[in-house]
Amino acid sequence: MNDRELWSKLLGEEIESFTYSGTTYTVAVDETGGTCTCMDFRIRKGSWHFVVNDEYHVQGCKHMELALEKRGFKVKREFI
Ligand SMILES: [Zn+2]
Repeated sequence: MNDRELWSKLLGEEIESFTYSGTTYTVAVDETGGTCTCMDFRIRKGSWHFVVNDEYHVQGCKHMELALEKRGFKVKREFI
């Protein structure tokens, strides 16, 4: 585990897989922006577009959506 991975693990949000029980992904932030350890994010940078608090437009995965909601943000899926 490198330094960036360690800090992501320590400060990131652990989100349980929607598909595989017992599997968790880590949603975190690095110099490229928001990150998640799931395949959807690693391959496509996330299949979803979200509007956060009616203001911020972001692309991400379902785990990032849930992590934002857990922190009290209002998240709407955007279909583009
Ligand atoms: Zn994800």
